[in-house]
Amino acid sequence: MGGSRYGILGVGRFAVFALFAGVLVLLAGGCGGGEAGASGDGLRVTTTTTMVTDLARRVGGERVEVTGLMGPGVDPHLYKASQGDVEALLGADVVFYNGLFLEGQMAEILEKADQQVPTVAVTRDVPEGELLESVSYEGQADPHVWFDATLWRTTVDPVVEELSRLDPEGAEGYERRGEAYKEEIDQLHAFVEEEISSIPEDRRVLVTAHDAFRYFGREYGMEVRGLQGISTEAEAGAGDVRELADYLAENEIPAIFVESSVPRRNVEAVQAASRDRGWDLEIGGTLYSDAGGDAGTDEATYDGMFRANVRTITEALR
Ligand SMILES: [Zn+2]
Repeated sequence: MGGSRYGILGVGRFAVFALFAGVLVLLAGGCGGGEAGASGDGLRVTTTTTMVTDLARRVGGERVEVTGLMGPGVDPHLYKASQGDVEALLGADVVFYNGLFLEGQMAEILEKADQQVPTVAVTRDVPEGELLESVSYEGQADPHVWFDATLWRTTVDPVVEELSRLDPEGAEGYERRGEAYKEEIDQLHAFVEEEISSIPEDRRVLVTAHDAFRYFGREYGMEVRGLQGISTEAEAGAGDVRELADYLAENEIPAIFVESSVPRRNVEAVQAASRDRGWDLEIGGTLYSDAGGDAGTDEATYDGMFRANVRTITEALR
């Protein structure tokens, strides 16, 4: 009984939404739809990945109410916006997303949102000459820029600028927190350089489930091999597994890594194939690739996830 009542309500709400997005926001508020800070003073900011959520929180401070759509372990390449997400996007004062086609399944809804709400790709200032070409999508850039701290640093200013434009009274604070965050990123960069340089040179090979670490490899001097293409949409084939297992056994690479947002089975297939070749390949641990850790932990932040990765990598390869 209850089910059908909600069903009818659901259809009604959907129809209203389809015609008048503005009315929907009121409706959702009236139904206790959980729009964080809908009646509060702060800017309502909606973000996509955990890295972008962290960025918006750090720059925005207490003047903003950030709703991050993608939690820990979520794969942004495959993520589709739910009805609730659409409400959070259209009900925001500003939307920040990664861009570079990382949120591939959300391209259409982000474009739609942009007609009603300022919608900003935080990677817009990454110099074009620094971008790597996507392995999977011809003509697209590789979106995983956050694992080169010098590139992720360029995402701070667009957020400072946009928040300041929408909330001029808060501009000084956005500016100050943005500068502090950039300093923190500089320190992170120095930490990563130092740690990676402690790995013997012939072992600086990073093998993971998908190609999320190519910028990381370029900046910090590691050879990077992914089992899948750059997106997680394609399954690794048997040929990929054999080829990689040959390479690992020949070069005596001690460990391969699992990623938090990618199924483990592909990596386990490579481990099994390497062992068939007489090479005792370890699984070196789980890396955060396209999403950070659980809310409330250090790894939920960009800085924390990056440091955790670097520790996992150095411990396994050193
Ligand atoms: Zn990815």
